[in-house]
Order: sequence, then structure tokens, then C-alpha cells
Amino acid sequence: MTVASASEIAERYQRIREEVGDGVTVVAATKYVSLEDMGALAEAGVEVVGENRAQDLLAKHDRYGDVFRWHFIGHLQSNKVKVVNPICELVHSLASDSAARRLETSALLEVNLTGEESKSGVGPSDVAELVERYPLVRGLMTMPPLTADPEQSRPHFRRLRQLAQELDLPALSMGTSQDYRVAVEEGATLVRIGEVLFRASSSDVPRH
Ligand SMILES: *Cc1c(COP(=O)(O)O)cnc(C)c1O
Repeated sequence: MTVASASEIAERYQRIREEVGDGVTVVAATKYVSLEDMGALAEAGVEVVGENRAQDLLAKHDRYGDVFRWHFIGHLQSNKVKVVNPICELVHSLASDSAARRLETSALLEVNLTGEESKSGVGPSDVAELVERYPLVRGLMTMPPLTADPEQSRPHFRRLRQLAQELDLPALSMGTSQDYRVAVEEGATLVRIGEVLFRASSSDVPRH
């Protein structure tokens, strides 16, 4: 992905932070951002980044270290937990018992609310037991089915919030570029935003 200029990213980041308010953490979802381009995010003042792959996390953390706070938002294989543990303050995508047993950092359980087979995540009926068993679980995360209409995500976000409330879990990671406003209305405490935060738009292309 071609990323926008640092000043453009800074502007968008401030705008999004104002929209979501102080109580919501904006996590920059950086899976499509190259090692080099992470520098523009740093320059723009982005504080929290979420990576999807352990290899990328390792490489980017090696290079940027304490410049960012690191989250993990991708599919977490249990043999990669040891990579994530010392780097990440939060894993959003805990979805298996075998990963949970190895985990040494705070986590959110990824919940598959709709039973879509292409998605990871635990079923809603398994959440309570896992929360009980693993005290490092602080909240829940979900990825609703892809849709062009953000309103379609609202019932899923609402259901996740109700699940979290029933279990006294304070953290809710929900909402991406297209539906983060709806997610915040439904109680998100973390939003994971990629595209709209840093993808270069055609208007960024320099004209001669
Ligand atoms: C890529 C990704 C996002 C961000 O999606 P955008 O549409 O780029 O905002 C959020 N969450 C997860 C788990 C992702 O993989």
C-alpha cells in the first residue's frame, strides 16, 4: 500500500481521535504498511499499532521499538505466542485454548458471532468459560461480516457489548475504517483502523 504523507496522516489521525473521543484508543492496523513506511506513521504521531503477523511484528519492533505501543490483531497461532508476549501490551485476537495457555500479556477474546467458517474466533457460548479460566482476558473483539453499509455492523457490535457487560469485561475492540463510528456509538473502547488513516488517495499524488 502506498501511504500518505506524514502530515496528511497526522491530520487524519487527529480528526479520527476527535471523532472517537478520549475514551477510545485508535489502533493503527499496519499489516499493509512496509517497514520503511512505518516511519511516516511515527512522524505523524501515531502511538498504537496493531500487527497481524508475528514475523512482521518482530521486524517492525526491532526497527522502531518504543516509538510505538504494540498490539497484535491477527490470527494467533500458539507457537507464535512467545514472539508476541514480550512485545505486545495487548492481543486482540485470542481464539484458542492452546494460545491462551502460553499467553503472558493482556488479551481480548475474538468472538465469532455469526459462525462464519472463514473466520477465527470462539463461539459466544464459549466466552464465559474462557474468561473464567484465563485472567489475562480483559475484553472482547469481533470482526462482523464485510459490508458496504456500516449500519449492518451495528447489531453485531451491540451483541458483543452485551456479552462483555454480562461478564464484567471493560475492553471492547470493534470497528474498522468503514464502521468505526458505529462501533464507538455501540461502546467500543478500541478501534482498529487501517485504510482511512494512511492509504494515499489520488489527491495526494503530486501534480506537476
Ligand atoms: C486490517 C485489519 C483492520 C483494519 O481494516 P481497515 O479496513 O484497513 O481499516 C482491523 N482489524 C483487523 C483484524 C485487520 O486485519
